[in-house]
Amino acid sequence: MSCIFCKIANKEIPSDCVYETENIIAFRDLNPQAPVHILIVPKIHIDSMNDINSENSAVISEIFETVNKIAEQEDIKDSGYRVISNCGEDGCQSVQHLHFHLVGGRKLSETLS
Ligand code: AMP
Ligand code: ZN
Repeated sequence: MSCIFCKIANKEIPSDCVYETENIIAFRDLNPQAPVHILIVPKIHIDSMNDINSENSAVISEIFETVNKIAEQEDIKDSGYRVISNCGEDGCQSVQHLHFHLVGGRKLSETLS
């Protein structure tokens, strides 16, 4: 499997991990867009938002239950943050393994584009 986030999940390549369970891993983005920029990733390979379904959605729930824990750990829970998942070509998804960007630590742009 050549997927880079599968390799990170399997510890075949290192990451700056900030949170991990049996099902998910969260690590700092290599190219941070803000003081806090963490990727929250299911350990099972899911290509994108387009592939979430009733069979695999438990891990998505776990990810969203985890966001506020990581935000607290990173001290951005009160100041606020944004969670983003890019999907497909127009969404500018560059890694084809579903992931959620947790971004904060500065005032973010009011526009989503
Ligand atoms: P996206 O464009 O939404 O697919 O986001 C992919 C993100 O993965 C980008 O922000 C990259 O900087 C980040 N990234 C790619 N490879 C790594 C890596 N090995 N460790 C941490 N972040 C990575
Ligand atoms: Zn993968």
